[in-house]
Amino acid sequence: MASSFIDKARITVRAGNGGNGAIAFHREKYVAAGGPDGGDGGRGGSIILKVDDNLSTLMDFRYKRKYAAGNGMDGQGKRKSGKDGESLTIRVPRGTLVRDAETNEIIIDMSGSEPFVLCRGGRGGWGNSHFATPTRQVPRFAKAGLPGESHDVILELKLLADVGLVGFPNVGKSTLLSVVSKAQPKIANYHFTTLFPNLGVVWVEEGVSFVMADIPGIIEGASEGAGLGHDFLRHVDRCRLLVHVVDVSGSEGRDPVADFDAINEELKQYSPALAERPQIVAANKTDILEDPEKLEALRSHVEGLGYTLVEISAAAHKGTRELVQQIAQRLSVLPPVAVYQPEYVPKPPVADASSPLDIQHEDGVWIVEGPWLQRIMANVNFADYESRMWFDRTLREAGVFQRLEEMGIQDGDTVSLDGFEFEYQK
Ligand code: GDP
Ligand code: MG
Repeated sequence: MASSFIDKARITVRAGNGGNGAIAFHREKYVAAGGPDGGDGGRGGSIILKVDDNLSTLMDFRYKRKYAAGNGMDGQGKRKSGKDGESLTIRVPRGTLVRDAETNEIIIDMSGSEPFVLCRGGRGGWGNSHFATPTRQVPRFAKAGLPGESHDVILELKLLADVGLVGFPNVGKSTLLSVVSKAQPKIANYHFTTLFPNLGVVWVEEGVSFVMADIPGIIEGASEGAGLGHDFLRHVDRCRLLVHVVDVSGSEGRDPVADFDAINEELKQYSPALAERPQIVAANKTDILEDPEKLEALRSHVEGLGYTLVEISAAAHKGTRELVQQIAQRLSVLPPVAVYQPEYVPKPPVADASSPLDIQHEDGVWIVEGPWLQRIMANVNFADYESRMWFDRTLREAGVFQRLEEMGIQDGDTVSLDGFEFEYQK
């Protein structure tokens, strides 16, 4: 049963590139040879996802689809490191699933509050100051920064209705929803009750949107569960605010006050908690109002009960903007939608050490390459002791040193790991 509505957006994110390492030399008067002193490039900024409970839809991602973090700056002489690129934090509603756009695999379920690094910035390249060794005093090379990761991802959110529309059939609920949202509910000029709730996202302004659900047939035995599935009722239960639509035109000979009370009574039968949800009364069909006294009677009735009444004509798009503003304003001070247990469990990251390493011995240099190594290298901060030790251990555990030994490496040989040169010491 289509009891939920999936809000989806496809975006492209790109972390910043690492800055290049600098090739520079001391130019000080009294330093004899003048050593290499090119600084490292800065690290590219990362793309970080963070939950924001003020957001309830992915609406804003329909308008902006490309996100990029800042690039790292290039290194300079005098061992000056380039500035790191600025990271970009993308705020998403709680419960947003992030999938790989190609495989549709879940990358992360943003249900928790921990920020998630979706794309790492590229590591800055080493300046030539790193390449000074006793045998290579004047290195003329520096390492280019690595590109930042980029990813096409699909954001997916199971919408939870903030607002439920209630009211008798034919009062204009579907019309209202279609006018204020992008939903295309069935609009029928007869007392038609669909079994499927219609949901729509109402965009108010940047960063402010809410989900509105048309709750058809709440009156027709809904309290006995007739026709409406459990999922749907659960959906309705969660909305934070009800918009009670009343036909005040008198065109069908209805009495607005009696209708209003009847719906509230039915709500109470179905769920006392739901009946106590705050309500905004939308007095609809004012464009064909036959008897203004009926409208005024409803107004004093609902205001006496502490509700706000907004006059609208859904069909003529009159007053709907004001209604939307009122709703947004009320929602901003109401607690967020209750959160259910996430349905998806994020998969643990795949440790892929299976891809073979390619080791070549060329011109006295041992060249080690492979995608696995590239990932490892991107995670090492060579300025940090712990990180270097981790790197060493990782290589050892992966059998890199053992294979080099088997191939006949000697003390003092040069090893090139993904373009970085090291002197081999047993
Ligand atoms: P629902 O059953 O509450 O979802 O009602 P619908 O949205 O399907 O509307 C029922 C009928 O009322 C349709 O023929 C609509 O065109 C009409 N209607 C809805 N809103 C207005 C309104 O503001 N003015 C007028 N004149 N007709 C309306
Ligand atoms: Mg309808």
